[in-house]
Amino acid sequence: MNAVSTDLAGRGDTESFALYVHLPFCKRRCAYCDFVSFAGMEGVISSYIELVLKEWRAVKDLLISPASPKVTSCYLGGGTPSLLNEIQIETLVKGLFPGGVDSSMEFTIEANPESLMPSKLRCYKSLGINRISLGVQSFSDESLQKLGRIHTSRQADMAIQMICDEGWENWSLDLMYGLPDQTPGAFERDLDRALAFESPHLSAYCLTLAPGTPFVKLAEEGRLQLPKEQAILEMMDVLEEKSALAGLFQYETSNFAREGFTCAHNLTYWHLEPYVGVGVGAVSYFVWNSGPWGAHWENPTDLQAYGKMARDGSWAFMNRKGLTRKEAFMETFLTGLRLTQGIEVSRLKARFGEEMVAEVIRKITPLVEDGWLEVGKDVLRTTRRGGRVLDALLLEIVFDLD
Ligand code: SF4
Repeated sequence: MNAVSTDLAGRGDTESFALYVHLPFCKRRCAYCDFVSFAGMEGVISSYIELVLKEWRAVKDLLISPASPKVTSCYLGGGTPSLLNEIQIETLVKGLFPGGVDSSMEFTIEANPESLMPSKLRCYKSLGINRISLGVQSFSDESLQKLGRIHTSRQADMAIQMICDEGWENWSLDLMYGLPDQTPGAFERDLDRALAFESPHLSAYCLTLAPGTPFVKLAEEGRLQLPKEQAILEMMDVLEEKSALAGLFQYETSNFAREGFTCAHNLTYWHLEPYVGVGVGAVSYFVWNSGPWGAHWENPTDLQAYGKMARDGSWAFMNRKGLTRKEAFMETFLTGLRLTQGIEVSRLKARFGEEMVAEVIRKITPLVEDGWLEVGKDVLRTTRRGGRVLDALLLEIVFDLD
C-alpha cells in the first residue's frame, strides 16, 4: 500500500470519530451561497462560542462517556472561521480540548483571504491547528465580484504567501469553476495560477445553483450566463490533466492531493465513519448508544432555535433516530462512490453481509454494462465517465433493497 492508499483506506474501527465545529459568521453573504451563515453578526460570536462549548460538553457526557473514544480529526468550518479574533479562537480550541490538542491529529481551520493575517496564523499554530483550507474560489477579480466574494485576487495572493512564509506545510486551496461568463480558457488561467503555488491539496467545485440564493433569482430573470455543459466538461478535463501533471492525485470527485496530504477529516464522511458536528446546522453520524447501524442528527439551522435548544438542554442528539441496516448500507455505498478508488467490496461484505452486497451488484449491472460503474476484484467504483455525472448517477442508484 502506498502513502496515498493508506490515507484512503479508512480506519475501520469504531473507537474514534471526527469532530466538526460550525462557525457560521461572514462579513457578507456570497451570491451563490446556501451554507448556514450569517452576515453582520460579529457581535454575537463570543456568546455563540459558549453555546458550542456547552453542546460539546453535553455530547461528551451523554454520548461518549464512558467509552471515551478518540477524536481523530477536528475541522473548524463555516461561514468564515478566520473572521474570529485570536481570543475567540483560543477560547474555542481550549474549551474543545481542555487537555491540549493531540499533535498527531489533523486539525483544520477554514480561512478566507481578506480576514487572514500573520498573527492569526501564529495563534492557530500555537493552539495545535495544523491545516488551513483557504477559500480563494477564483483569481479573476471579475469572477470574484460576480460571485459576491469580498476579497480580491491580490488579497488571495497575499494570503497564500503569508501561509507559506509562516511555514505551513499542510494547506489546501479552494477553487470553483463553471462561474458566470467563465470560458474554459479563463478557468485554465485560474487553475494555472493556483497550481503555481504548489499547495499540497486542492479542492475544485463546480458552481451549482442552490435554491433560495440570489443566483437563482438572477438566472430566472435571464441575467446569469453560466457555461454550457460542453464548456464544463472541458474545464473538468483541464482540471484533471493539469492537477495530475502538478503531482496532485484526484482522490474524490472534487479533491486532489499530494501523497500524504488527503484530508483525513473529509474521508471520515466518505467512509461513513462516525463524526460529530457541533454548532448551528451541524450534522452528525454516531454509533455508540445509537443502535447497531448508528444514527444521524442535525442541529437547527437558525441561530435563535439553536440558542433555545441550548437553554432548554434539549440537544438534537437526544432525539436521534437510529439508521436501519439498509439505510446505513445505502449511505456507505453512495458516499463511497465519491472516492476515485471506489469501495472495497470485502469491507462492505464484512460490515453488511454477503447477501446485501450481492443484491446491490445485481441491481447495478445495467449501469456497469452501460459504462457508468465498474466492478473489479475487490472494488466497485465509477468509471471516469460516471464520475463526471456523479450526482445524476447517485439518483439512479437509489433503489430499494429487498
Ligand atoms: S464566505 Fe463562504 S460561507 Fe460565507 S457567504 Fe461566502 S460562500 Fe457562504
